[in-house]
Amino acid sequence: MPDCEMCGKRVPNLTRVRIEGAIMSVCDACQHFGTVLETRKPAAFRQPQEAKPFVPTKREIQQVVKHTPARPRPKEADIENLYVVEEFSRLIKEAREKMSWTQEDLAKRLMERKNVLSNIERGALVPDIKFAKKLERVLGIKLLEDTS
Ligand SMILES: [Zn+2]
Repeated sequence: MPDCEMCGKRVPNLTRVRIEGAIMSVCDACQHFGTVLETRKPAAFRQPQEAKPFVPTKREIQQVVKHTPARPRPKEADIENLYVVEEFSRLIKEAREKMSWTQEDLAKRLMERKNVLSNIERGALVPDIKFAKKLERVLGIKLLEDTS
């Protein structure tokens, strides 16, 4: 029969407990000195804890992402498949006016030059995908379509 590492008593079963950082095998009477690591409680009692699904933390997800080999960024792939809708100038102007913004207001929000915006609204200039995405975001409209 094993000896309790705490009191030295000879008992049929020892329980592993953590006592101030050390792991010891102790008798039932000494269990309360530490945190029990393994218990002989019925399986039904322990199941809920063990059945907990594995949910990775944000940090763990980030680590996985970091270790994934580099692939073409989805953003770039998207850009190749997108085009600006034909009625972009009307959509932009209407959305802007609905917000009661001047071209200058909108240009500021987009952090773009006002004359670029005014050319776009006149239809003299087609915004590139990046600009169109910004417009979509700021105005809450849809300017890009997928070619696929
Ligand atoms: Zn003991």
